[in-house]
Amino acid sequence: MHLTHNPRVALVTGAGRGIGKAIAERLAAHGHTVLCVSKSSTCEAVAADIVAKGLKAKAYQVDVSDPVAVAKACEAIAAEFGAVEILVNNAGITRDKLVMAMTEQDWNDVISTNLSSAFYWTKGLVRPMTRKRWGRIISISSVTGVQGNAGQANYAAAKAGLHGLTMTLARELAGRSITANAVAPGFITTDMTDELPEEVKQKILSFIPLGRFGSVNDIAAMVDYLASEEGGYVTGQVFSIDGGMAI
Ligand code: NAP
Repeated sequence: MHLTHNPRVALVTGAGRGIGKAIAERLAAHGHTVLCVSKSSTCEAVAADIVAKGLKAKAYQVDVSDPVAVAKACEAIAAEFGAVEILVNNAGITRDKLVMAMTEQDWNDVISTNLSSAFYWTKGLVRPMTRKRWGRIISISSVTGVQGNAGQANYAAAKAGLHGLTMTLARELAGRSITANAVAPGFITTDMTDELPEEVKQKILSFIPLGRFGSVNDIAAMVDYLASEEGGYVTGQVFSIDGGMAI
């Protein structure tokens, strides 16, 4: 299917590496101006590479778990770009432990980085988006948010929380032609999953009906569709892109 992309301003959190980087590059290739956010300076290199190709990007080093820093960034972005029309909440971390061993810090770090961040960015950017009467809010969730996973109570709660936020935003913003959807990846090869021991990877592989791990492009392709003009009648949904894990 040929997708229509009118040039927009897009913001991708966690765009410094992995899935977020692939999403940022793909949106930029469609002519969108892509604001790349990361915690460290990784976003600078990604934005510079996009600009070197003659496309449009700008880097913002922001800790997405810090509501004051996010609000400040949103003000600066509104002053320079007006409205952000495509928001991709992708930044995320893991602090895996069984509940018995999980600390309050492990819990709070994951909830603030993976869930509260999506609220902070949406709150900071939604008003100008409503004035445009066109918008896309896409949050990167996880198969863990769909079915839970031993050792990931904090992560599962944050990702399932994104689904509740997504369904609510879909209802609150539909009148302004703003859609809100979540994409729930299974096991995608990135730095986040490279950290896992080989035996854990082999065990996960045995749960994937399609028999292979996914790539960052499998996720970017779904975001691409949801961000396109053709994706405009889809809202309040969670899309599993997981090789069949959550069947
Ligand atoms: P990744 O390779 O570890 O990259 C994470 C990105 O998020 C990095 O750019 C990182 O910034 C950024 N980030 C983390 N904490 C941040 C903070 N406090 N403030 C700003 N940026 C922050 O992760 P990934 O595998 O691409 O995962 C991306 C998303 O997909 C996450 O939400 C993850 O939960 C979800 N997901 C991934 C998989 C998978 O198999 N990989 C599966 C399901 C869901 P720096 O570059 O500065 O460190």
